[in-house]
Amino acid sequence: MEKVVIIGSGPAGWTAALYTARAQLAPLVLMGQQPGGLLTTTSIVENFPGFPDGVDGYELMTRMQKQAERFGAKASFGVVDAVDFSQRPLKLVVDGEPVTAQTVIIATGAGHKHLGVPGEHELENKGTTYCATCDGALPMFRNQPLVVVGGGDSACEEALYLTRFGAEIFLIHRRDSLRASKIMAERTLAHPKIKPVWDSVVTEVLDPSAGRVTGVKLRNLKSGAETLLPCAGVFIAIGHVPNTKIFQGQIAMDENGFIERQTGAATNVPGVFVAGDCSDHVYRQAVTAAGMGCAAAIDAERFLAANQA
Ligand code: NAP
Repeated sequence: MEKVVIIGSGPAGWTAALYTARAQLAPLVLMGQQPGGLLTTTSIVENFPGFPDGVDGYELMTRMQKQAERFGAKASFGVVDAVDFSQRPLKLVVDGEPVTAQTVIIATGAGHKHLGVPGEHELENKGTTYCATCDGALPMFRNQPLVVVGGGDSACEEALYLTRFGAEIFLIHRRDSLRASKIMAERTLAHPKIKPVWDSVVTEVLDPSAGRVTGVKLRNLKSGAETLLPCAGVFIAIGHVPNTKIFQGQIAMDENGFIERQTGAATNVPGVFVAGDCSDHVYRQAVTAAGMGCAAAIDAERFLAANQA
């Protein structure tokens, strides 16, 4: 039986692993479908303390993993299929195999939110994407008009990154001002290749019958006018949804699926703790996720000490 199982390998998961490993609890880290989490798809992270010149997202996560492993954290590529938190020890099914644990730290993060408009799903990987750093350099996007949807830091980051490849970048936002941090918003709007399209939403991605993105249909929310904007790619950056489906019915969560914290990092199930974006819809930063991972590790360590047979 494991003393600590950590589900997820983003900043929250690896920080929880570092702390529990240093407490000699030999945590098992189930890295999931996206080892390193969403940060691995970011280019430069400028706001993680300790890196005055910024740090590549993938490199940051690799360093966090190495640091935790140095103290005895065990990394596994396992994906959790199901959990049973109704009795002790806690039970998990990982890639079809049973795993039991005294404590579990949930750090499963969040995934990309989808628009839910016609054509979006059909054209995924054929011009519709949720990650500019992953896909932006593909030949199909080179010197072509591209669309980014959203008004937050992610959308700004995607638009700025795409200026390296696209002919012009249309930033479609449903309001007339960006939600992004001031520095990102200013940088984005000052870029000559980025053209904001305010008060507008994408109502359809074209053209599934062509097998690739050829444009988007837009609706101006103020005037109601419908227009067609030709483009070769649609980069959707409208926020995130927590990766908590497998915990439904097992643990208390809010109506949007964010796991509820009780005291500190504790959930409503004794021995189950939570950290990072799967329980945080407010801050959602790498550094806050890491801080929550630390808190969850300390709480798990104290729980184990208090419940020792
Ligand atoms: P976000 O801040 O929640 O922004 C989502 C954006 O998408 C908002 O502008 C929102 O519009 C829009 N939106 C949401 N649902 C939509 C829909 N169905 N149709 C059209 N537009 C929709 O998400 P985020 O940009 O991914 O950022 C998440 C967190 O990560 C933030 O805390 C951010 O600061 C952080 N982050 C930081 C950096 C960085 O510092 N380099 C980079 C990326 C992310 P409204 O504005 O109208 O709500």
